[in-house]
Amino acid sequence: MSSPNAESTAFRSALEVIRAVEPRVAGAIAAELADQRESLKLIASENYASPATLLAMGNWFSDKYAEGTVGRRFYAGCQNVDTVEALAAEHARELFGAAHAYVQPHSGIDANLVAFWAVLADRVEAPALKKAQARQVNDLTEADWFALRRELGNQRMLGMSLDAGGHLTHGFRPNISGKMFDQRSYGTDPETGLIDYDKVAEAAREFKPLILVAGYSAYPRRVNFRIMREIADSVGATFMVDMAHFAGLVAGKVFTGDFDPVPHAHIVTTTTHKSLRGPRGGMVLCQPELAEQVDRGCPMVLGGPLPHVMAAKAVALAEARRPDFADYAGRIVANAQALAEGLLRRGASLVTGGTDNHLAIIDVTSYGLTGRQAEQALLDAGIVTNRNSVPQDPNGAWYTSGIRIGTPALTTRGLGTAEMDVIAELIHTVLNQTKTASNPDGTPSKAKYVLDPAVADKVSRQASDLLAGFPLYPTVDLT
Ligand SMILES: *Cc1c(COP(=O)(O)O)cnc(C)c1O
Repeated sequence: MSSPNAESTAFRSALEVIRAVEPRVAGAIAAELADQRESLKLIASENYASPATLLAMGNWFSDKYAEGTVGRRFYAGCQNVDTVEALAAEHARELFGAAHAYVQPHSGIDANLVAFWAVLADRVEAPALKKAQARQVNDLTEADWFALRRELGNQRMLGMSLDAGGHLTHGFRPNISGKMFDQRSYGTDPETGLIDYDKVAEAAREFKPLILVAGYSAYPRRVNFRIMREIADSVGATFMVDMAHFAGLVAGKVFTGDFDPVPHAHIVTTTTHKSLRGPRGGMVLCQPELAEQVDRGCPMVLGGPLPHVMAAKAVALAEARRPDFADYAGRIVANAQALAEGLLRRGASLVTGGTDNHLAIIDVTSYGLTGRQAEQALLDAGIVTNRNSVPQDPNGAWYTSGIRIGTPALTTRGLGTAEMDVIAELIHTVLNQTKTASNPDGTPSKAKYVLDPAVADKVSRQASDLLAGFPLYPTVDLT
């Protein structure tokens, strides 16, 4: 461990250097820390990276072009980038028990694009090249190239529906994945809110996707990846898991056996900044047969890698390999369950009736609110969440009927199950006291609401008092 003093000195010095050039940027950076320290953050996709991870990003690695892969670069002088990229990949392979890791993706969406195109290259492009007896795409005739492009654009993907908790990058029209693939989605059982694997199998049999995707950003339960792989195999689909949200729970061995995607999927994508607690970025893990295609992510869909972020990935992954990370991951889930139970006990309604991961979805219709009203009212009271659709959402994707809450960030701060019960009380108080306002024509508004400012202030103070006992970045003193 570095001394607390070293961390304070490092950040203070960095701010001093920045302040000399553009003081407003230094001011915003310092203000961001102050704001984060004061906010009760229940955003399920956010976390707090360690000082070592943050510091690994602010340096001259940012100045380097390093297209290619370790030892095979298109630029000279990449020996130090090679060191950090190889380290990040090694830590990722060891941590997740993966055959291959590609740590260049700049974000989760990039990791998914790398994965999609690796599968398309392996399953559509490579056979076409072979058939045409061409070594690479530049050797194809115009007619063969035209036919291949049509073929690449004519593939199918089956993924989880958005309102059940799936992600926009899994083949939905506003995202490029929806323009690339003919997509169909599987939802959840209307009674239980759980994935119905028989229904997924039926959809796969009918639709015959090239890629079956599992993974979510708003599903509060574990997914059985062994069953999903069997379904993929039964229709000849490549099985991909996007573990962006729950990679920390896989790393921390909370999700094991059937619930660990790595041994079951052909290819796994993730972000590194959510429950994994690393720098903002992405990563792909895969079976050996896809490794060569995955490594073509740059220049296929990525620009030059971000060596400074790969350095930070190596640091964060090293942290995730330490025994205390498993303890952290266990506490994330214990906290989510305590929060869910605290809400249920007070009469809230949760999608699937609870959680067995890091997040829960409150169905706020039982409080007579939309997700938008609930999100804003909670924010007025100092509680940061985000609104989210519930399955078959009556209020649509903009207003929604749900509030998504997650515990990775507060668990990093050190809050435990007793504090989660206090937070459940605060959330329930706000939602219970918030009333829908009327539109000018007398109909109930989906956005406007009334919350007594005295209630909001009181909850806000209680939230601050709670956080005061769990300082964020306790080793960093900027004053
Ligand atoms: C967050 C998320 C992404 C996107 O990650 P970005 O880094 O924001 O691009 C992709 N897939 C899932 C399931 C996610 O939750």
